[in-house]
Amino acid sequence: MSSQIYWTYDELLTDVHRRAKSVEVLGHTVDGSPLVVARGGGDKLPAIFITAGAHSTEQAGVSAAVSLIDELQTEHEVHVIPTRDPIGMQGFAHALSLGLGETPKVESFDQVEGILRDRGEVLFEEEDLLLSLVGDYGYASARPTQDRTCPQNFFYSRLQRLHAEEPERLAPLLGRRVFMTAGQTGVEGTGDFARAYTLIISLDGEILHINRFHDTAWAPVEPRVTRDLLARIRPGLSFDLHESQLMQDRYWLSARRQPDADNERWEQQAARATIQAIADSGATLANDDDAPSKWFDTSEPAVFWLDATRRGEGFNLMDFVSRTYGLAFGTEMGMYGTFDGRVELAMITVRTCVQVFEQRYS
Ligand SMILES: [Zn+2]
Repeated sequence: MSSQIYWTYDELLTDVHRRAKSVEVLGHTVDGSPLVVARGGGDKLPAIFITAGAHSTEQAGVSAAVSLIDELQTEHEVHVIPTRDPIGMQGFAHALSLGLGETPKVESFDQVEGILRDRGEVLFEEEDLLLSLVGDYGYASARPTQDRTCPQNFFYSRLQRLHAEEPERLAPLLGRRVFMTAGQTGVEGTGDFARAYTLIISLDGEILHINRFHDTAWAPVEPRVTRDLLARIRPGLSFDLHESQLMQDRYWLSARRQPDADNERWEQQAARATIQAIADSGATLANDDDAPSKWFDTSEPAVFWLDATRRGEGFNLMDFVSRTYGLAFGTEMGMYGTFDGRVELAMITVRTCVQVFEQRYS
């Protein structure tokens, strides 16, 4: 079976409506796109929550989330926010249209840099990186290079250094959204420009993205509507389907320590069952070098327990959910696997954890 890659948000929404029992609009992001949640599953509680796409460059999780709306067999309520960054998933040209007032053609880095120079105010430039302010938005062109396997990681650390060394250069971007070229040459479903990576810079110069702010009062609309939905549905089991460019085709499961012993026991059981199912599928498991060890503890191979307090950027969605509602898991699929293979790993994760969850409430 081949998985669908959604190149436009309209295509994705059409498929969501076709698959869902009902679709609710939770709010609208700054380009007017609706942020939606779709209902699947049955009526049993506690509910199951599935989401993806906070990092728009990670599209296999998004396609898996859409498929799971009607393909996940469970009596429990299923609530799916298929993508938390509709702007980013619509690509760099679309993101640029917010600042330009028109959608340009974007086919090469030369072209992007020309637009950012001619139509914006260049704030910073060095080899392979151009940062510009166009209207109310920041834009970054970051060219992929041999030694820079993940352009987003490179860009974060470069911006952090800029803020530390020359804060006046970053000052015009404080409190703004900054859209970055994906720069993921050869990644099926993303490529160089088909997605824009969304960053949000705090007034203090902290460089954040859509998978933060879940415990922040001034949260942008995407995490805010997600947080409000969670307060209504109070999920007993949640998933956020991510991918990583850093680990070829390897897979890891990101688990969270639970605040009470019973939840902790079920989180461990679901994690064990999932990593076994992933290994049985023939996929390659992550090795210990794949996860930044300063933030994670390992149990089974390729099960990493994230400790958000050690990372110090506030809670991501699954950190927040695990502390507030119940079991929570994230995936990291290596982006150089096939798109179908990456989608399949996300779906195995959800199906296996849901089986364990159903045992708990049977
Ligand atoms: Zn991610």
